[in-house]
Amino acid sequence: GVEVHGAYKAFGALTVLDGVDLTVAPGTVTVILGPSGSGKSTLLRAINHLEPLDRGYVSIDGDPIGVRRVGDRLKERPEREILVQRRRIGFVFQDFNLFPHLTAVENVAAAPVATGAATRTRALGLARDLLARVGLADKADVHPRRLSGGQQQRVAIARALALRPSVILCDEPTSALDPELVDDVLEVIEDLASTGTTLIVVTHEIGFAREVADQVVFLDGGVVVEQGPPSQVLDHPVHPRTREFVGRVL
Ligand code: ATP
Ligand code: MG
Repeated sequence: GVEVHGAYKAFGALTVLDGVDLTVAPGTVTVILGPSGSGKSTLLRAINHLEPLDRGYVSIDGDPIGVRRVGDRLKERPEREILVQRRRIGFVFQDFNLFPHLTAVENVAAAPVATGAATRTRALGLARDLLARVGLADKADVHPRRLSGGQQQRVAIARALALRPSVILCDEPTSALDPELVDDVLEVIEDLASTGTTLIVVTHEIGFAREVADQVVFLDGGVVVEQGPPSQVLDHPVHPRTREFVGRVL
């Protein structure tokens, strides 16, 4: 599971995370909602330690990410240790971020090969299995530029799975897609959820949140304003800011 403890982050005078606590149990799905600029992407990047926190820390399966406890202080880990820790976290970006010069199957196999997690032959075999799982068995040898946005995002999801991470973070995985491609990608994420993958998904897709999330977190101004099961946060929000936001995106 993932635990965020007192996450605080400022950029100059702008406080972006103002004491966020969050617990994501293994095998559950958390959807993060919130207005533009509320700190959603910063929170995901902090979980991955791409954005080191000013205060607080994140732990994955009990291990603090990117930092080590030294006495009563947290000390940044060396970069090579952080890279190893990051293998436990899959990240799916809004704009796919595939390697353009590699085929789909090579994209998915790249991390297992680079990290020595598998031989090249085994990694390519596993990558083909993962592509089949996201419905792209027939696109394995195609380069990203010849895939639709939805297909590229499904390759990116397969790639995120390749190192068997403890958790997958998705930052607005469908917001760069044409509307008719959104459902294919959401179905793949839903399938991961139903097979017990721990997921944290930033999305404005309220229907997806309602059907798939175990927990919905509404972030505003770097603060968790409201959190709970979708039936509570989406259908019976108590905080006026949640009510206003949910009313606007529904
Ligand atoms: P959106 O829905 O638009 O993606 P968000 O909730 O993901 O928004 P963040 O990207 O986390 O918001 O940004 C929160 C705030 O922090 C914004 O005001 C943004 O401009 C600011 N910010 C983010 N990254 C940096 C940075 N590297 N330097 C300075 N300011 C930053
Ligand atoms: Mg964002």
